[in-house]
Amino acid sequence: MRFGIHAMVLAGGWTREDAETAIGTAARLGYEVIEIPLFDPGGADLPHTRALLERHGLQATASLGLTRETDVSSPDAAVAAAGVRQLVKVVDAVADLGGKTVAGVIGSAWTRYWAQTPPAGYENAVSSLREVAQHAAGRGVTLAVESVNRFESNLFNTAVDGLRLLDRIGEDNVGLHLDSFHMHIEEPDAAASIELCGDRLAYFHINESHRGYLGTGAIAFAPMFRALARIGYDGVVAFEAFSSAVTPPEVAGLAAIWRDVFSDGPDLAERALAFMREEAETAARTHRMASR
Ligand code: MN
Repeated sequence: MRFGIHAMVLAGGWTREDAETAIGTAARLGYEVIEIPLFDPGGADLPHTRALLERHGLQATASLGLTRETDVSSPDAAVAAAGVRQLVKVVDAVADLGGKTVAGVIGSAWTRYWAQTPPAGYENAVSSLREVAQHAAGRGVTLAVESVNRFESNLFNTAVDGLRLLDRIGEDNVGLHLDSFHMHIEEPDAAASIELCGDRLAYFHINESHRGYLGTGAIAFAPMFRALARIGYDGVVAFEAFSSAVTPPEVAGLAAIWRDVFSDGPDLAERALAFMREEAETAARTHRMASR
């Protein structure tokens, strides 16, 4: 298990200066992975970022949410095709950074929908993600499709429904991305859902129920870490948080962040890493005791 951090906890965008701040701080705090939001992969100076990653010994992952214009679950084939082109660009960008994972809301737009996904839209999501996955396989990249709550996507909101989508896609390099914040809202039993995923769990986000300091909200993290220990999860556990004081407005709007739940990103990040390490160590110890 490797601990990562969503770059927006530490920097607002991905200019060269943002990259230096986020990567430098993450490395100093002891993180191994930085999750770079690549909504606009063409806007990033990738060679500069790659050099920073190598200098600081960090691995990169990329995440994004698709938009209405690039929604691969649209019944409009032209919109879905625009989504495929966008995801291929992000796959290529993360591969150029030496990364292996593209995560986030990549099966639909990251937005509030007002109706269920129409059957033609679901079919477009399946075929689009299959097409992107086949390209990604050639670049050594895995797609991790995030299960988010009902207000942020309509394609699927639970692990069991996400696995159904994965079955339809039928490509080995497509896995599920689970997030404690969304699971807390939607999953009847978060630990059971993690176990159901097993080795198809490709990425994991740790978030508090209000998206701020870990341990100060409503989420029961111990059962989730125990489940991760039981399935032998050895992928990335990335800390994600949003606050109106830190998150840029365009992303804050997507995640409905209207309150200032933290203002000091590095302090939040430092405490989050200590929290995750403690939870993971306790879970591993518990698992060893229970399987003796
Ligand atoms: Mn997330």
